[in-house]
Amino acid sequence: MTTTVGTTTTTFDLGPAGALACRECGHQIPLAAEFACAECFGPLEVAYNFGTVRREDIEAGPRSIWRYRRLLPVPSDVDDHPNTQPGCTRLVRADRLAAALGVKRLWVKDDTGNPTHSFKDRVVAVALAAARTLGFTVLACPSTGNLANAVAAAAARAGWQSVVLIPSSLEKAKVLTTAVYDGALIAVDGNYDDVNRLATELAAEHEDWAFVNVNVRPYYAEGSKTLGFEVAEQLGWRLPDQVVVPIASGSQLTKVDKAFRELGELGLVEPAPYRVFGAQATGCSPVSAAFKAGHDVVTPVRPDTIARSLAIGAPADGPYVLDAVQRTGGAVEDVTDDEVVEAIRLLARTEGIFAETAGGVTVATAKKLIANGQLDPDAETVLLITGDGLKTLDAVADRVGPRATVPPQTAAVREALRG
Ligand SMILES: *Cc1c(COP(=O)(O)O)cnc(C)c1O
Ligand SMILES: [Zn+2]
Repeated sequence: MTTTVGTTTTTFDLGPAGALACRECGHQIPLAAEFACAECFGPLEVAYNFGTVRREDIEAGPRSIWRYRRLLPVPSDVDDHPNTQPGCTRLVRADRLAAALGVKRLWVKDDTGNPTHSFKDRVVAVALAAARTLGFTVLACPSTGNLANAVAAAAARAGWQSVVLIPSSLEKAKVLTTAVYDGALIAVDGNYDDVNRLATELAAEHEDWAFVNVNVRPYYAEGSKTLGFEVAEQLGWRLPDQVVVPIASGSQLTKVDKAFRELGELGLVEPAPYRVFGAQATGCSPVSAAFKAGHDVVTPVRPDTIARSLAIGAPADGPYVLDAVQRTGGAVEDVTDDEVVEAIRLLARTEGIFAETAGGVTVATAKKLIANGQLDPDAETVLLITGDGLKTLDAVADRVGPRATVPPQTAAVREALRG
């Protein structure tokens, strides 16, 4: 793709990416570090010239998200640069959870298996690859926690500097697991929406800082498609009937929908109807509230939930989530913090998978959607488990623990097991 900046012409190789297009008015601009339409302030999205993409090309690729590079805004030599190689996490058949929930065919996409234990490694790897091509030298973000981990680790591996802004109230584990990579980590006295506004102001001041989810957001967001691509490939190149996705900014949900559409359009899967469901914690459920009220805009809220990784009160992609959910015949539902904790325990007990609070939101929402008849128990369903329980231990700390503490004698153990 060729871009003219002033009198100089710059050529960016971002693979199949051809331009940025406004999601509201369709206005197109050349590939650049832009995120808002100059005509209408709508969000920009990557537009592609895919050409022919074959299953064999993908299957012959690396065991990481780069097997899908022909469907992403990244250069063809993307994997030659140091990167965290996220993706290709397991899709597990969840029969015991299915029985507990009363559904027939259930799968869990376990994205805790990524390098920093959440799906954010996917979006950061794509953002870093695009940022490198666009000429940035510093990787930055405002974060609710998992993004902080992923940015700090990816920058360390690439030999870049990082600048990470977090709300000072974040879980201690997520602070430490970011700080250990030794980038610049700044805790801000404010909530995520304050931190996000700060990042937008800083991005305007520092031309060489790529804020992955702000000024290079169109590229970053495309990384979420790889979750959808993997689910389809792991099902043997077909789409599930239903998928349940947690919502923070809403980007991930809209990109899973986009991934399923692209696979159908490219003939990589048989185009088939599917339904996309969104999951929120009641303490931060602006999208669920809008869905239930039948609105097509989202009214911001002040978050108050243990699901801090989903605690975005003003979700940037809210209206597009509502569109995807309505267009596919899905729904958005929300669950209490108590239901979140019980769902974390249910997933652990039935499938041996320890999810963070966002995973609890997904499982609890699926349960509620089945109970209220919105999720079809006879249809094949995939739950996206996007983060690891080791980062949110406090959520379960006062509900689980040893059954007993005993002296080192068999009789004492027997006694405790009887009790
Ligand atoms: C960030 C995040 C999400 C959702 O992200 P979106 O902003 O909606 O794309 C889901 N789960 C976890 C664990 C996250 O960290
Ligand atoms: Zn526009």
